[in-house]
Amino acid sequence: MPIIVQKDNPILRQTAHDVPVGKITSPEIKKIIKDMKKALLSQDDGVAIAAPQIGKPLRIFVMSGRVIDLLNGKDVAEPSHPDTVYINPRITKRSKEKQTVEEGCLSVRWLYGKVERAKKATVVAYDEEGKKFTKGGSNLIAQIFQHEVDHLDGVLFIDKAFDVVDIPPEEVERLKKNNPK
Ligand code: ZN
Repeated sequence: MPIIVQKDNPILRQTAHDVPVGKITSPEIKKIIKDMKKALLSQDDGVAIAAPQIGKPLRIFVMSGRVIDLLNGKDVAEPSHPDTVYINPRITKRSKEKQTVEEGCLSVRWLYGKVERAKKATVVAYDEEGKKFTKGGSNLIAQIFQHEVDHLDGVLFIDKAFDVVDIPPEEVERLKKNNPK
């Protein structure tokens, strides 16, 4: 099982490198994406993960299919939709409108805090087949885009969060919210 690195690991502070487009479908990158999906699925509360979080300084993040379930009001351990992969993502638009959202991180156990995020964001990225796509999202999806791209730039949510609290896992289980990324 790939290990999810924690906040003091310097790899989380590096600027991750673009994946050369011609290498997106290589066995090496496929393996990294597979490991990211495994690591994400291993966390009951995870909604997304960035490659540096499994120790690979590459510009890739995976959004769990669980996000769709959550948006449909279902908090499930087994996502009913496939994960989506974003390679070399760039945020091309952010709404001027911001909102304060609750945030946590799979690499910053067990802290949670409030962060100001653009309410809507658009990302341009490559998928696993090396095809370029554009995806816009609001609320939770926009929050994930911003949190994950921050990871690729060496930024953690605690750098910008306020009202940070430490909630042990037992209590998280009880509260079942916050959805770390
Ligand atoms: Zn995170």
